[in-house]
Amino acid sequence: MIAYGVFSSTDDHSPRVAARIGLNIIDLARLCELGVLDKINLAYFTSNSLNDFIRQGYSFRQIVKQAVEQVVDTVTNDPHSELMAAVFALNQVKLYMPVKIGGYTDFYASKQHATNIGKIFRPDNPLMPNWVHMPIAYNGRASSVVVSGHPVKRPHGQILVDGSPQFDCCKKLDFEVELGVVIGKDSVLGEPINIDNAAEHIFGVCVVNDWSARDIQAWEYQPLGPFNSKSFLTSISAFIVPLEELSAYKVEAQPQDPQPLPYLQDKNAHSYDIRLEVRLATAKCHEGIVIGRSNFQDIYWTMSQWIAHHTVTGCNLKVGDLLASGTISGNERGNLGSLMELTINGKESIELPNGEQRTFLENGDSIIIDAYCGHEIIGEVSGTVVK
Ligand code: MN
Repeated sequence: MIAYGVFSSTDDHSPRVAARIGLNIIDLARLCELGVLDKINLAYFTSNSLNDFIRQGYSFRQIVKQAVEQVVDTVTNDPHSELMAAVFALNQVKLYMPVKIGGYTDFYASKQHATNIGKIFRPDNPLMPNWVHMPIAYNGRASSVVVSGHPVKRPHGQILVDGSPQFDCCKKLDFEVELGVVIGKDSVLGEPINIDNAAEHIFGVCVVNDWSARDIQAWEYQPLGPFNSKSFLTSISAFIVPLEELSAYKVEAQPQDPQPLPYLQDKNAHSYDIRLEVRLATAKCHEGIVIGRSNFQDIYWTMSQWIAHHTVTGCNLKVGDLLASGTISGNERGNLGSLMELTINGKESIELPNGEQRTFLENGDSIIIDAYCGHEIIGEVSGTVVK
């Protein structure tokens, strides 16, 4: 499986576009310089984002992929090949934000998650009536989307304490396990994307952690939804996996009842079998503990439905835009994608192997989310909380 990102090597500090295969990084700009991709515009690869590369589309990617696979074959058979100059070990490079994100939208596409959260606030009526009729979303903040590894500075904000608002640091810092779609083709302002063509607008997927301040969220979210509680930081994996790389993991989508309105009826409704595993580690317990395992295939609303709904008014999407799934949760306690659900808003705690207890994240805690297709890792996103 091939994925794309932006890296720099220790001997050359300029960021450039790379392909990742397994634990190897292939420097695509260097391949151009070595004459392997000689008919290709070097500027696509000397850029500090994937956007121009993404814009070239599917057939261009296939040319690049073939070249990269040949290079991997060559250097495997001949470690003295001059092409080795373009090959780096993943653990020896610096990774950067892979895309310039113009817009970030966060959906709420997992029925289990929406139900679990709803139950905490409205036990008798957990799912809002609109939820089964459209993929609910809010416009997130693109400027604070960062690459995996970026520290998570604990936010301050307004928190309701004993009925009155106080300005304080967040005491209920949480994560959200999500999968993100990176848009690969611009749409035209004023023209909705038909659901049948929606997949053509996807470049690929990344792993997302939508960090959340639950105490700030509880006070601010009505009537317009989350604002400061979400905008302080969102982390994504350093590599984006093109959608075509996931075709072997296509599965049927979840059944939908009631049938949605025609513009949301997806004739080829499918999802992907992508397993997500979230680990909590602390300053005193480095090995940490797996606190959740969920699967993208349990998501109710499909990626194509997100895109059709997002653009139905004529709102346009642009190359590099990020559309995230919302927290991916299953039905069991072992399949939850946020601490809010795992600890029932702080009522129950999680115990680490060294006896430490957690309800929400403390300074020094790390959250690591790994996503897998079969045995192949498709992405990792991590972050450590700092004061
Ligand atoms: Mn979210």
